[in-house]
Amino acid sequence: MAGIKAPRGVRDILPEESWKWAYVLERTEHISHCHGYREIHLPVFEQTELFSRGIGETTDVVEKEMYTFLDRGERSLTLRPEATASMVRAYLQNNMHSEQQPVKLWCAGPMFRYERPQKGRYRQFWQIDVEALGTSNPLVDVEIINVALALFEDLGLSNLDVVINSVGCPECRPAYRDELKAYFQDHLEDLCDTCQNRFDRNPLRILDCKNEKCREITAGAPDIYSSLCEDCRIHFDKVLEGLKMLQIPFHIDKRLVRGLDYYTKTAFEVLSGELGAQNAVCGGGRYDNLSEAIGGPRLPGVGFAAGIERIVLIMEQQGCDFGPKPSVDVYVIAADDLSREEAFYVATELRRNGIRADLDFLERSMKAQFKSAVSKDSVFTCIVGEKEISRSVVTVKDLRTGEQSEISRKDLAGYLQPRIRP
Ligand code: AMP
Repeated sequence: MAGIKAPRGVRDILPEESWKWAYVLERTEHISHCHGYREIHLPVFEQTELFSRGIGETTDVVEKEMYTFLDRGERSLTLRPEATASMVRAYLQNNMHSEQQPVKLWCAGPMFRYERPQKGRYRQFWQIDVEALGTSNPLVDVEIINVALALFEDLGLSNLDVVINSVGCPECRPAYRDELKAYFQDHLEDLCDTCQNRFDRNPLRILDCKNEKCREITAGAPDIYSSLCEDCRIHFDKVLEGLKMLQIPFHIDKRLVRGLDYYTKTAFEVLSGELGAQNAVCGGGRYDNLSEAIGGPRLPGVGFAAGIERIVLIMEQQGCDFGPKPSVDVYVIAADDLSREEAFYVATELRRNGIRADLDFLERSMKAQFKSAVSKDSVFTCIVGEKEISRSVVTVKDLRTGEQSEISRKDLAGYLQPRIRP
């Protein structure tokens, strides 16, 4: 195609797919409300500092993946790569500490990361974000994991794997970092270039490298559990107990450290075998120091983000139900050229009565209009011609049964309504 295309890694969500998204969002709203989470709408761009300080200067997201630009007032702004930092900023800016704690919020919207596009990985993608701010109670970590699983179950997803870990806190992580470095020191030359780079700056990230050689090396790396401080250890135990209490199966994975620096204590992911290389459908954890990192007071929080593209992908592969596909109830057909305006008027009347009606605008033959009615999955056709107009009636055909009857114009909506949505 000549002309302008969408940028690389960015795609249109066409009507054939967008109704599936609407279903996922509708169920997200339902499940979030069931668990006491209220919807918040956050800006799509923020001051760059929010992310560089919040997510961490040495993370891939901040170093390589942000869409950052100067606005006309020379301010550095960034298209949000994730929602958690914005969520915390919104909490602080809107004095939500004066509300009853925890403040439980959810949002959904597009995120932007300059990543290498592939199946399930885009440069603009949508996330569902669910967060609980203002408590360090480990049961809230369990609630958050449970919200994610309740949503996936509601959507009909199966074969999911919950993977969990503790990444400690600023008190106990430095000792673990040192222990890891001591271990990796002996294997430095065998690590991939990226991991050699991570060795000084962020050795924990070496643990989740997907490179085969690195994975062999990290298999023997020390785990964090013996380094956890008492607070982190007790917290981790309580989260695991809570998961068991709710009968949520999980795996502990010492390699799970996640790509964002702000995580403390709990880190988790929900994985699906259906997604190939991009196997995480959801990721989250606790971030008790994020608020302080962006200049706020201490504010514990925990949450998750799930990618809508990946959810829909799994649902399609697993044949999950997306609810009824939006279709037309009635297709209004003009029997002759003189009746086209009247057909438009009839369609408008039906629409004003809450009936989904459509019609032809290309002055096509009756046969072609019937074809459109069928291709749009309409339940009824209403034929309007000179004969009908002169007697103030419409010929209604039920496409399910083939039954045809003449209905007076004034009774039309009342006749159709119970037959469309009984
Ligand atoms: P993260 O914010 O990196 O923890 O990602 C949370 C979830 O967002 C992942 O589990 C994916 O479902 C989704 N996600 C992250 N990055 C992308 C991307 N580039 N394209 C599509 N989905 C993504």
